[in-house]
Amino acid sequence: MSNHSPIGKPIPIDVIEESLYEIRRKIYPRSVSGLFARWRLILVFATQLLFYGLPWISWNDRQAVLFDLIQRKFYIFGLVLWPQDVIYLTLLLILSALALFLFTAIAGRLFCGYACPQTVYTEIFMWIERKVEGDRFARIRLDGEEWPWGIHKWRLKITKHFLWLLIAFWTGFTFIGYFTPIETLGAAILHLSLGPWQTFWLCFYSFATWGNAGFMREQVCKYMCPYARFQSVMVDKDTFLVTYDKVRGEPRGSRNKSADHTTLGLGDCVDCSICVQVCPTGIDIRDGLQYMCIGCGACIDACDQVMEKVDYPKGLIRYTTERAIEEKETNQSAIRHILRPRVLIYIAFITVLTSAFLISLVTRNPLRVDVMRDRGALAREVDGVRIENIYRIQIMNASENNMNVQLKASGLSDLRILNSQGELVTEIAVGPASNLLIPVKLSTTVGAHEPGNYPIHFDVIGKEVSGSELIIRTRDEKSSFIIPR
Ligand code: SF4
Ligand code: SF4
Repeated sequence: MSNHSPIGKPIPIDVIEESLYEIRRKIYPRSVSGLFARWRLILVFATQLLFYGLPWISWNDRQAVLFDLIQRKFYIFGLVLWPQDVIYLTLLLILSALALFLFTAIAGRLFCGYACPQTVYTEIFMWIERKVEGDRFARIRLDGEEWPWGIHKWRLKITKHFLWLLIAFWTGFTFIGYFTPIETLGAAILHLSLGPWQTFWLCFYSFATWGNAGFMREQVCKYMCPYARFQSVMVDKDTFLVTYDKVRGEPRGSRNKSADHTTLGLGDCVDCSICVQVCPTGIDIRDGLQYMCIGCGACIDACDQVMEKVDYPKGLIRYTTERAIEEKETNQSAIRHILRPRVLIYIAFITVLTSAFLISLVTRNPLRVDVMRDRGALAREVDGVRIENIYRIQIMNASENNMNVQLKASGLSDLRILNSQGELVTEIAVGPASNLLIPVKLSTTVGAHEPGNYPIHFDVIGKEVSGSELIIRTRDEKSSFIIPR
């Protein structure tokens, strides 16, 4: 017997069409305590203290960290970055990527398990969920059919979502506060005078946090995060990963606590499935390394507690390497393989780039000058005695101090710089973190030079006043001067 395809060819009856999408099975992770749970908690606190706290810190009468997209200036404490400083951002991104590669080569998805925003917010949301609805079995019962929708269930669900939305809103508000001064933003929300874009992004980030940490959870790690997919090419036999010790654990099976499992032919795994119950992505680590494992270590904590209860040595699930398991090595000896070629290459790149980044940051000249010869205005003779070319000079003061800037021109004899009112340009005041665009006329004496195109220099000297200290900044900008026939 056979079916027929749309083009008429028979399809064998044993070909089964499978859906591309797996139906989601809701996960109810059980709470767990232990060393890795404590580390997760510490990192949740540390990252959130940093994220929520930074926009409220002031520096020189302004927000210490502010990415002002409208003014196109990034303030990071004493540092003011302009669009021209995009190289620093590029270097930072490359360094972050290299650091991620390095951590992954040494210890797998450390970032995912402890510091990724998705993990951190899911952790916070799960903590609220546990406080409101109870631990795993209470939540399964609450969502089950035997618990009908009544006042109690509504109260728990509304409380949970209210708290989730509160956190999500504060997260969205804080995030926007990195781009708009947070105090102004807070005042605008209180006075209901938020602009349309601010309203859009506030709602967007709040709902994204609520949706990702409240509902999507492990789906983001499994299906949306590209890192999960390519991590396998960054790990090798010497990478420390959360691993189930198959050699020690198998064959798994339940047994009496008093029974000698070796005589029963059993390994150390009592098949209690607690490691699966605590897993936030709902996987069974005993099936081997899987791309869904975020390396959070919850199964290690859970299994260690089980091992303690049955009086077996801890570490049936542990951070170890594939080589250590195969060759029955201890972690102390597995550490010897950490410094392998790929790790050394990452360390070398990170060291070189970090040094380049720091040196260029320390030696950065906050005085920037751009000279543009006005090609629209022709060189002209003024009163028969001077020949004049027009320029537009942009002076940027990327420091946090006032700067007095002197302009001089060289390359031809008797060069004079005049402003648009015809006055001699001597010193120009440029405020902190600001820029000026000034049109100037540069002139020389008629007849002093043959007609032609002459290279000239604008020598710019900036006097930066930092407290009682005077710092001299200099720039030498090239341009050209045309003497017509
Ligand atoms: S928690 Fe440990 S003992 Fe229990 S099933 Fe998992 S690996 Fe086996
Ligand atoms: S398998 Fe273990 S380490 Fe991996 S995600 Fe699940 S609980 Fe975390």
